[in-house]
Amino acid sequence: AVVTRFAPSPTGFLHIGGARTALFNWLFARHHGGRFLLRIEDTDRARSTEAAIDAILDGMRWLDLHWDGDAVYQFARAARHAEVAQELLARGEAYRCYLTQDELAAMRTEAQEKRIPFRVRSPWRERSDGDPAAPHVIRLRAPQEGATTIDDRVQGEVTVQNAELDDFILLRSDGTPTYMLSVVVDDNDMGVTHVIRGDDHLNNAFRQLGLIRAMEWREPVYAHVPLIHGADGAKLSKRHGALGVDAYRDELGYLPEAVNNYLLRLGWGHGDAEIISREQAVDWFDLANVGRSPSRFDFKKLENLNGHYLREADDARLAGLVAPRVETLVDRPLDAADRARLTRAMESLKPRAKTLDEIADGAVFLFLPDALPMEEKAATLLRDAPAGLIADVTARLRGLNDWTGESVEAAVRETADAAGLGLGKLAQPLRAALTGRSVSPGIFDVLLLLGRDASLARLDAAHN
Ligand code: GLU
Repeated sequence: AVVTRFAPSPTGFLHIGGARTALFNWLFARHHGGRFLLRIEDTDRARSTEAAIDAILDGMRWLDLHWDGDAVYQFARAARHAEVAQELLARGEAYRCYLTQDELAAMRTEAQEKRIPFRVRSPWRERSDGDPAAPHVIRLRAPQEGATTIDDRVQGEVTVQNAELDDFILLRSDGTPTYMLSVVVDDNDMGVTHVIRGDDHLNNAFRQLGLIRAMEWREPVYAHVPLIHGADGAKLSKRHGALGVDAYRDELGYLPEAVNNYLLRLGWGHGDAEIISREQAVDWFDLANVGRSPSRFDFKKLENLNGHYLREADDARLAGLVAPRVETLVDRPLDAADRARLTRAMESLKPRAKTLDEIADGAVFLFLPDALPMEEKAATLLRDAPAGLIADVTARLRGLNDWTGESVEAAVRETADAAGLGLGKLAQPLRAALTGRSVSPGIFDVLLLLGRDASLARLDAAHN
């Protein structure tokens, strides 16, 4: 059975590249009816934080990328990692190395002078006269002859000459395991069958494979996914949108289904399908269709997808997501009636919006005091309206027995006809009077959403 894992280092937020790695692992496991595991690689004690762990777990839950079983915390398994180092020592696959910092520095300088890449070639690989009580590290006895080939599911066959690899450290002199050792031991113990991760780890894979072979463990299938680049082709940085997933949720106002769909298409494709539901994604996902070249981050595409998912989303759910943003904008809490009105407004607010912020911005007029703050453009529209026009439409609206789509539309059209104006010429100042803005949902929707009392109060305030 397939077992994948996502293994973030909790030294920062869950960034967009990490989220994509998690998504690919999740999809691959689900597609094959396997398991998707989470391992928090918190061995860098100085840089790992509780806040970063929370942000990662939170981001994964938001994206609905649920992991099977409990998360594994790597640091807690240090004793097990050390045990494997000892076993490698016992098998003769590793050795105690007593090179001092000075000796290593001298080797580094020598390599620099000869202009050759620095590789640790420890004399202790062949010596057995060291004193185990003296400070030492434990190094893997890596193969020096021949070559190592990885049949990577994304990169194809990649070969490295073993002479280029060195006897990397498994256990430091203080007895703590290195990252390279921990990853391999954990993947093995967790039964990971497929290692799907960023191609910045491809070089590590050759070293890790050396360790796996030394332990005679089962070799996982590797799939190293090209990293995400910015629209300009440069490696993704903050400037390009390499934000934490929480920023996509909180600051930018995207829906998780939009982010997932976008991340899925970032480096993976199924024909020319752009809108891909989760069910389809699970059905279709495989490593064969992961591209080999870096994908470019495209905010426009993400926005368009988000617009699509906003239009699809349930109105009450959207209102719940938008409400806090509206509260910030109008600087007051929304009560139950406000929220119900916000839900009703979704149908007219959604069609043109790309983000939750845009919806919130469009909804603000509903929750302002009837003595409206006027935007400059709206004030001009109102000032330039033919004299008596707003008073006339107000009177007609006030005379209505019921306040329905048909009745308010009839009253507005009658006003325009009586004035010999096109509907648009009336709608503009009317919109200004009702919303304080020059842009809003359709004018009849505005009248209905505001309701009779607020509409008349705003109109009175505007023409008096
Ligand atoms: N902890 C590593 C990272 O966050 C991932 C290691 C791996 O996937 O093997 O980049």
